[in-house]
Amino acid sequence: MSQVQQVTVLGATGSIGLSTLDVIARHPSRYQAFALSAFTRMAELEALCISHRPRFAVVADGSAARDLQARLLHAGLATRVLFGEAGLCEVAAHAEVDAVMAAIVGAAGLKPTLAAVEAGKKVLLANKEALVMSGALFMRAVRESGAVLLPIDSEHNAIFQCLPQDYARGLQPVGVRRILLTASGGPFREFAGDALHAVTPEQACAHPNWSMGRKISVDSASMMNKGLELIEACWLFDARPQQVEVLIHPQSVIHSLVDYVDGSVLAQLGNPDMRTPIAHALAWPQRIDSGVAALDLLAVARLDFQAPDDVRFPCLRLARDAAESGGSAPAMLNAANEVAVAAFLERRIRFTDIARIIGGVLEAEPAVAVNCLDAVLEADRRARELAGQWLNRGEVA
Ligand code: NAD
Ligand code: MG
Repeated sequence: MSQVQQVTVLGATGSIGLSTLDVIARHPSRYQAFALSAFTRMAELEALCISHRPRFAVVADGSAARDLQARLLHAGLATRVLFGEAGLCEVAAHAEVDAVMAAIVGAAGLKPTLAAVEAGKKVLLANKEALVMSGALFMRAVRESGAVLLPIDSEHNAIFQCLPQDYARGLQPVGVRRILLTASGGPFREFAGDALHAVTPEQACAHPNWSMGRKISVDSASMMNKGLELIEACWLFDARPQQVEVLIHPQSVIHSLVDYVDGSVLAQLGNPDMRTPIAHALAWPQRIDSGVAALDLLAVARLDFQAPDDVRFPCLRLARDAAESGGSAPAMLNAANEVAVAAFLERRIRFTDIARIIGGVLEAEPAVAVNCLDAVLEADRRARELAGQWLNRGEVA
């Protein structure tokens, strides 16, 4: 490749952001960090700016921006510091940007990710919540702008690698029977139902195979991560919820599989390290070194599979129901989950209350059609309000 690709990294200080910068730093002749964003951890962002020398940095507000700008000037950098959602959208859609890593966690990433999509960028999607919330609108924007959407979620990246290039014709026309979405089962896979009441945020965040941000770690422990991924898979691959089956695979070596009508099942395997899907998407359709060690199957020795348990982990069923209801249901599921997970991390509720709050919110408000961004944002706002009411009434404490 002759020209250096300019990459905006939204959520640069997070787990995915740092892995992305690790891959970028291995290929200075191919990729250059164009913009880096962070919401907190200003010292880390400053250090990343000094090592990657981006054109822009984006922070939460004006005062943080002035502070960081002064420090970067002092360090002799020409990096310009922007702030807020407008700053994020500006660096996501900037004319000189080739690729955008969407790695902000949660609904906060929706508008910047959509800005990248609408500008027709190569969009590397880690921020699954953005797609879950706005599915139909998001995919329509991809088609209209000609953006290239590449999944970073390891399962979806695996499925993408196992599908034929023309999968956009539809799963049935390309001979796909179903998608098998693998799940590690999280840290509580073997816990009895009763024991789940007393688990702590520290236990929930200690994932056996992956090192990730706190929100997605709790989602993995509750299986809501797989629920969000089921919805994500439906949008990315134009699948019906019934075409996506969840399979517990504790080793996290098979990242997902595609089952074809002739009986062939294709899988993508690798060590559980997000630099593999990141490098795959950055270089696609080429391949580059990611820094990930070669998979040692003799050391792995065995691959196990189990069916998911909807009784101990009701979040998966809640997500499947929301996928089937469609309309505002996935946005409400996502927002109620964000509120409940934050409350669990603050020790305001028990782990098992997460599913109760989400179920309560979805029951309280039937799904309605959403045909514009405002309707998505209204569903998000309403679910946060309802989940907040549940928290304040103390019914679930
Ligand atoms: P993280 O918590 O480590 O990082 C989140 C990043 O988003 C940080 O840079 C933070 O500053 C920024 N951020 C947080 N709140 C923000 C806000 N309100 N406005 C602007 N920026 C904000 O999270 P992560 O584990 O890197 O996950 C990021 C996304 O990638 C999530 O959507 C997650 O589901 C997805 N994902 C992560 C992994 C993983 O292995 N970590 C795997 C698959 C998908
Ligand atoms: Mg995943």
